[in-house]
Amino acid sequence: LKLNSANLNSLENCTVPTYDRSSIKHGIVHVGVGGFHRAHLAVYVDSLLEQLKLKDWAICGVGMQSFDAEMRDALVPQDNLYTVIERSAPGSKARVIGSITDYIFAPDNSEAVIAKMAHPDTHIVSMTITESGYFYNENTHQLMTEHPDMAADLAGANPPRTFFGYVYAALARRYEAGLKPFTVLSCDNMQKNGHITRDMLLAFAQHRDPDVAAWLSQNGAFPNSMVDRITPRTVSEDVQSLRSEFGVEDAWPVVTEPFSQWVVEDKFCDGRPAFEKVGVQVVKDVKNVEEFELWKLRLLNASHTAMGYSGYLGGFQYIHETIGHPVFGKYIRNMMNEEVKPLLPPIPGVDVDEYIQTLIGRFSNPTLKDEITRICLGGSGKLPQFIMPSIAEQIVAGGPLRRLTLATAAWFRYLRGVDEQGRDFQLSFDPRNDELQQIARDEGNPMKLLSIKDLFGDDLRGDERFVKELTEAYNGLEREGAMKMIEKVA
Ligand code: NAD
Repeated sequence: LKLNSANLNSLENCTVPTYDRSSIKHGIVHVGVGGFHRAHLAVYVDSLLEQLKLKDWAICGVGMQSFDAEMRDALVPQDNLYTVIERSAPGSKARVIGSITDYIFAPDNSEAVIAKMAHPDTHIVSMTITESGYFYNENTHQLMTEHPDMAADLAGANPPRTFFGYVYAALARRYEAGLKPFTVLSCDNMQKNGHITRDMLLAFAQHRDPDVAAWLSQNGAFPNSMVDRITPRTVSEDVQSLRSEFGVEDAWPVVTEPFSQWVVEDKFCDGRPAFEKVGVQVVKDVKNVEEFELWKLRLLNASHTAMGYSGYLGGFQYIHETIGHPVFGKYIRNMMNEEVKPLLPPIPGVDVDEYIQTLIGRFSNPTLKDEITRICLGGSGKLPQFIMPSIAEQIVAGGPLRRLTLATAAWFRYLRGVDEQGRDFQLSFDPRNDELQQIARDEGNPMKLLSIKDLFGDDLRGDERFVKELTEAYNGLEREGAMKMIEKVA
């Protein structure tokens, strides 16, 4: 049966929303309606609407990239309904999510996006726009004002080209109208995602109008949050299995795991729904978010990154296969236990060994089919965040770092785009692929890559032990391949 409002009550094998979707105001505008948003925030909001029958908190989705036309074309004909398929060894569950009740494709309708954000009913603008959507220079911590899209928006481009361009335009209208700013809620995987959002948006506003910047700085809110739910890319088999197992015809379902976590700082300037009623950890102290964030980025994301590049070189297709391989499994476990765990702050009431065990269980989920090529996306945003900080801290502590270093070397080796049999392959997308691949190919030497200051800063290049280990790991990968090198350092 085709998924849409009219057929909702005839779907038998899955959970469906029973609330009246037509009468709920849009309290949230979400930019970047990809897999993750649809498996995470939109699910929490769906639970709120279902359980508390809230009338002010539906989501209006927004796509800003030209390729988001595909999401619009999938969602709109099904009245913005979609299915979340939760996969685990005991079996799959399907749940239709109703919290997104409208979708605006910004390239065709920029004014509608600005007007929706500026509308007094909108209390939160949330986003999952990937690291590159923030135009954040990791090294200088400044807004990348020189980027052509950012430069255009700073000069007042209409329609805007960036997330900040849109958000600023809407906030400036609210300022003029004497309204409160909305909360800008980042759900991207970045440490201090709220702080970065605030700093980049205020820098943007300062360029455009210092009065708006001052108003926003005084009245705005940018909660930090830690988000966690592994959400692979949807593939055509998922669409087919939903149809055959559950009888639902959905153009673009989402596949995810049973686990879900969201820790968010309780800092909202224009109200929020009672997220804590549906399993969200809403915390008063930003320190609590930061601790969870650190654990997650340094354990989960670092392990993913380490498995991604070396796993690709080693010929694996999925994460569960990689962690299930005795040598790779040992490598990842030891990396977490010996090189990362000792650096992490304790979190009262949470056992780090159990956390690591749970992670390994999640990575091992054979039904999730999380592709290595997805994990390899955007390495230039990942290595500096997930791997390098642990290396830098181990340098200072004089502790072990060879496994983390091998993960870095594997990324450098991967960037050449030539596999271990000498065949060219297409790198997973990264906004800096052209530049990085050229350096990786011309030099065949890890030091040139390590010299890119805005990625790696100065500290690591100056450390003799690290440089030696990195060079050896890189040369080892070249000579002996990933499997042998992982075995050596595991
Ligand atoms: P996706 O490819 O399904 O969706 C990405 C969305 O981001 C798209 O809607 C796209 O239009 C938007 N986007 C990308 N660049 C943008 C830009 N410059 N400006 C505005 N919008 C932009 O990916 P996803 O799986 O939904 O992941 C998105 C983000 O969610 C990740 O980058 C990460 O920060 C976070 N996240 C994902 C997972 C996961 O397991 N997939 C887990 C935790 C956090």
